[in-house]
Amino acid sequence: MKLVDNFYAYLWPGVTMAEMQTYGNNCNSYVVAKALPENKHVLVDPGMVVNEARQNCLERLISEMGKEGLKIEDVGLILNTHAHPDHYGASEAIRKMSGAQVAIAKGDDEFLKLAKGEMAQVLKQMGFEMPEIHPDFYLTEGELRLDQDLVARIMLTPGHSQGHISIYWPDAKVFMGGDLIFHGSTGRVDIPGGSGQSLKESIERVAELDVEYLLTGHQYGAPGIIQGKEEIRKNFETIRRYIFPYL
Ligand SMILES: [Zn+2]
Repeated sequence: MKLVDNFYAYLWPGVTMAEMQTYGNNCNSYVVAKALPENKHVLVDPGMVVNEARQNCLERLISEMGKEGLKIEDVGLILNTHAHPDHYGASEAIRKMSGAQVAIAKGDDEFLKLAKGEMAQVLKQMGFEMPEIHPDFYLTEGELRLDQDLVARIMLTPGHSQGHISIYWPDAKVFMGGDLIFHGSTGRVDIPGGSGQSLKESIERVAELDVEYLLTGHQYGAPGIIQGKEEIRKNFETIRRYIFPYL
């Protein structure tokens, strides 16, 4: 669905608890269309190829994008907010279809190395299978220039994972937060690399931004997009009050 300007949202269904039974896990994906030279698109968090419920998440994304005239072959860059399989899983599959570059933060690339080694057993018990990913470059704090007049601001927002990043688009006042913050809740901090204290600090940094569209990584049990300054302010307030004490 078109959100604003060239921003498109592909929300993974499962807004209510009942729907959650029907839809397995996957993340929300976002596209910034024609953000790159040659009208290539930026894709943020491609999600999984197939999820644990054997649903074809990538096929669904491709078909939803297609309805709006956006082709997966025209994706030029995949930005991953963090190295959890429900967010980055389809990165290499989409690279094969499009030749897109793939990026993730250094902190989570290190996590991926541990995930293959000493941490593998722990993650397996938590139900995590880690697909391959070979980043072309690492995302660091600061501006990411996509073409002459489009700049994304990458923010290191650790807490849910060690190297978690968020993407702020100052001109459109759009914030893509991955699993940092949801409607009425936050990302979990019990996966290796998580930290409640870091998550709180990251959220407080983000609360300072001028945002009209807060785009979250999941919408289970609540809307995936929080729209309007006042709604966003209230959401931060709710989280400080009801979630922070437990982090
Ligand atoms: Zn995650």
